[in-house]
Amino acid sequence: MQAVPTGVARDEIEIEHKGHERFTKTTKGPRKVHEGYEEKGKMMLVIDDAARGKLGRDDAALAVGTVTTWAGTTRVAATAQGVRQVWLPDWHGAPPVVASSAQPLIAVVQPGTGAAEHHVRQALAELAAYFAGELRQFTVVLDVQGTAFFRAVWAAVAAVPYGATCSYGDIARELAAPMATRAVGAANGANPYAPFVPCHRIIAADGRLRDYGPGLPLKHRLLALEGALPADAADYPTWAARVGGGAPVWLGVRAAAVVCRPACARPRQAWDRAHVVFRSLAAAQAAGFRPCPRCAPDRPTLLDTERPA
Ligand SMILES: [Zn+2]
Repeated sequence: MQAVPTGVARDEIEIEHKGHERFTKTTKGPRKVHEGYEEKGKMMLVIDDAARGKLGRDDAALAVGTVTTWAGTTRVAATAQGVRQVWLPDWHGAPPVVASSAQPLIAVVQPGTGAAEHHVRQALAELAAYFAGELRQFTVVLDVQGTAFFRAVWAAVAAVPYGATCSYGDIARELAAPMATRAVGAANGANPYAPFVPCHRIIAADGRLRDYGPGLPLKHRLLALEGALPADAADYPTWAARVGGGAPVWLGVRAAAVVCRPACARPRQAWDRAHVVFRSLAAAQAAGFRPCPRCAPDRPTLLDTERPA
């Protein structure tokens, strides 16, 4: 793929490509450029401006494919070294309209060369299983490009397990760079590998979901899929019962730095924030959460079937 010259109005550029009609068009503001092949009115490849810089000059070797699920259409590009870029569907505003289909739809739109197609097929299959709630751990290989700091952040983010959440500050402290919370946020925002690098599991210090490139509603849906949050306020009691898998749990309410019983009004009212799930009261206290004065998890009641550790 030809590089787009800078300083030229993007929608004036014409690029030829044998076999297919090539187009370049600008949408949603000056920096977002869509470019690709068009055949019989169907878009085959879309690579936007931000992506091009990361993809480099080996575009012909890229394998590109899509998977369509309840979340919309996710596009993946891979080199022979691994997945280079993922484009999640845009959930700003209304969620994408997807025809109801029992099976996720996978399409390889450009096979690429070498091992690229293998990586893209594996990525699409893993995404289909992940969106179906059937896959908790990705194993696809990533072709990671970026500064040493970005790569360190992405590695730390990738270590946050399915169903868990972690704050930007937690990641900064883990990297021994406690002052770098904002830089961690920037690295997280620039992550081209979501959800393989699960930046949706990174939340604000007070438990608010805050930012997500594809849109906050998708971040909430993914966290709810993983069981980190209830789907909505009505789902809270069922979520609280299932989050421990039948075992008792305690919820660390980040904004108040208190640990609560799941039945307490405090975590229930803040159902749309990510609480820290603890298996014991002692673990919560060791992590710096003090017992909530309202629900007093440190004082056993006759109704308790469990005893605080
Ligand atoms: Zn409480």
